[in-house]
Amino acid sequence: MDTQYAQYPLLPLRGYLVFPTSVLNLDVGRPRSIDAVNAALRTNSEIFLATQLDISVEEPTIADLHAVGTIAVIKQVVTLPAGTVRLLVEGQTRARLESVVREIPYMSVRVELMPDQDVASVYVEALMRRALGSFEYYVKSGKKISPEIFITISTMDKPGQLSDAIATHLNLNIEDRQRLLTAVDVSERLELLNELLSRELEILDIEKRLNSRVRKQMEKNQREYYLREQMKAIQRELGQKDDRGSEVEELREKVEEQKLPAEVAERCHKEIDRLERMPPGVAEAVVVRNYLDWVLTLPWSNLSTDSLDVKRAEEILDEDHYGLEKVKSRIIEYLAVRHLTNQLKGPILCLVGPPGVGKTSLARSVARALGRNFVRMSLGGVRDEAEIRGHRRTYVGAMPGRIIQVLRQAKTRNPLFLLDEVDKMSMDFRGDPSAALLEVLDPEQNNTFSDHYIELPFDLSQVLFLTTANSKFGIPRPLLDRMEIITISGYTEEEKLQIANRHLVPKALSSHGLRRDQLTFGEQGLRKVINEYTREAGVRNLEREISAVCRKVAKEVVAGATKTFTITVQNVPRFLGVPRYRFNASEQRDAIGISTGLVWTESGGDTATVEVTVMQGKGNLILTGQLGEVMRESAQAAYSYVRSRAGELGIDAEFYQNCDIHVHVPEGAIPKDGPSAGITLATALTSALSKRAVRKDVAMTGEITLRGRVLPIGGLKEKLLAAHRSGVKTVIVPKDNKRDLEEVPRNILRRLNVRLVENMSEVLETAFSPGEQRG
Ligand code: ADP
Repeated sequence: MDTQYAQYPLLPLRGYLVFPTSVLNLDVGRPRSIDAVNAALRTNSEIFLATQLDISVEEPTIADLHAVGTIAVIKQVVTLPAGTVRLLVEGQTRARLESVVREIPYMSVRVELMPDQDVASVYVEALMRRALGSFEYYVKSGKKISPEIFITISTMDKPGQLSDAIATHLNLNIEDRQRLLTAVDVSERLELLNELLSRELEILDIEKRLNSRVRKQMEKNQREYYLREQMKAIQRELGQKDDRGSEVEELREKVEEQKLPAEVAERCHKEIDRLERMPPGVAEAVVVRNYLDWVLTLPWSNLSTDSLDVKRAEEILDEDHYGLEKVKSRIIEYLAVRHLTNQLKGPILCLVGPPGVGKTSLARSVARALGRNFVRMSLGGVRDEAEIRGHRRTYVGAMPGRIIQVLRQAKTRNPLFLLDEVDKMSMDFRGDPSAALLEVLDPEQNNTFSDHYIELPFDLSQVLFLTTANSKFGIPRPLLDRMEIITISGYTEEEKLQIANRHLVPKALSSHGLRRDQLTFGEQGLRKVINEYTREAGVRNLEREISAVCRKVAKEVVAGATKTFTITVQNVPRFLGVPRYRFNASEQRDAIGISTGLVWTESGGDTATVEVTVMQGKGNLILTGQLGEVMRESAQAAYSYVRSRAGELGIDAEFYQNCDIHVHVPEGAIPKDGPSAGITLATALTSALSKRAVRKDVAMTGEITLRGRVLPIGGLKEKLLAAHRSGVKTVIVPKDNKRDLEEVPRNILRRLNVRLVENMSEVLETAFSPGEQRG
């Protein structure tokens, strides 16, 4: 084909490019350009558009322009203010700049026309389809190209035209556009277009992925926010107060406020999150809230300052308690050692003694002396590990164990913790509570005590544990091994009198709102209360009786009485009724077949009577009443002894053939057992069979062998205190117990006639009334 040339006014473009077939607005401002436009309009409105290499050049020469440009037709001209004009142009054909024809007043150039060549081939067809397919995808991917444009373009069958139309709508930079314009060869142009299209699609794809990621994150946040708002709205609709949110906030604040160990705080936050997510009114929410309540009210980090001033501690113990010198000094020693070694290890103190001897109140004083909070927990009747350690939360109505419950009351992590009645725990199939208790008390383990309900380790190592028991026999062996026992046996009448005067009476007066001048207890009056209204090792009932008197007096004071009340021997019954115990046993008559034994029980020593009757029969031995297994055996032994010594004892040797013997141990709610009733049983048997009366003011204790030897027994101090309490004058005690007498208070020994014996004949010698004749 022949090369064609033509001449056109030149319009240099800055950052623009017009493809053949595309229609575009151009703003023209440079004077030379405006002259060129006018020149074009004067002829056939055709103009040559060429793009500047560098947009900053004001007066471009031919060297400043891309060689390939577009011949365009000016369709419309609008004059804008400030001297610029806006053209609407439509690209026609590619053309190459050849030379400048004139430069003034506008540039006119000679160009070589480069219309598209027809190149119908399968390859070009394939390129066209591919370009169209990619462009379709491009349009659909949301670039702001209207579908109509795509439809128009898709109907174009000329490959060059198609390529230029697509290129017009692509978001390409000026260099790429110029490359496409320069590509005069149609298939070359299509290849380039396809290349650019796939790059664009790739970019689009990456953009899309980025977008969707950002969107997802945003959606998630928005969704949660939206749902939460919706839930609030539903709750409001249902008439429920929007208290969950504020409750959750409050709980979070609480967690922040308290100095919780990290593990605990983390757990709390987790549970709070769980609570927040729960729909209102779910039963589980109550469970979670209860749990948080427990955890947040435990003293995880509260400590009271421990002050140990030994002297002051001694003063406090003395102030609160009369007597008990040994016990008090043992406690002080214990505290001092603990303080000095600063060790948590070491034995646990156990105060052992009958009720009302001041075990609890001693512990309370120790707490006061150390400046620790005081809490107590009774182990009486605890028989299940869960009572100590709690139930897992999966149980309905689960609760923490007693240890944690009590610690909550303590408010500090280092209270004095009194474990009462460690001898009263029992054990069954549900598990052994003593094992759990051992862990609580063991300093090696108790810094991470874990309650089944709380499920978080609690540090018990700063707690000072004290324990009490009525008898050391009931204490589980493994516990006993770790304990240091301090025994408190009970008080004498003198001591009780002092305790009453110094402590019980003042306490009772103030708790009943009475002044000292309104009520006084005379010494004899108090003694009568001690001896005839109470019979106990401790002072618990005495305290009760004193309170009873105070109540009666308070009533009269309120009724208008103005006089001073004084409690005397005579007027005690007016306040307390008829005496409950007869003090003076010697007032009773001596009797045949009845002897008085001394026994040891958990509530201190006591007296117990043994009765024997002989009746016609065939030699049976009948045992009834409060006898335990060991005591029954003692009775058998006593019986055999009497039978073997019948002659010596002045008893018909054939008695066992024609009579039955009935042994009965009456009285007392507490079953008594032990071998120490041996000599008492033998005495009663001998008395019944030989018809000799036993002295009423004699009481005895001792084990008996078949041959009549008397063996030592335990609990002598308690027994002698009891003998004294019940007005006995003479006590028969095994000789081997002699050294135990040192422990017995002097004033008791002074009032008792203690007979130390080795064998049964000595017992009988003392027990039988001297003047009594054989019947
Ligand atoms: P326990 O715990 O041994 O059963 P408590 O400690 O409850 O006995 O004592 C009972 C009451 O007797 C308390 O009011 C206590 O203060 C008082 N008490 C006991 N022993 C003494 C004592 N030696 N001095 C002063 N008060 C005492």
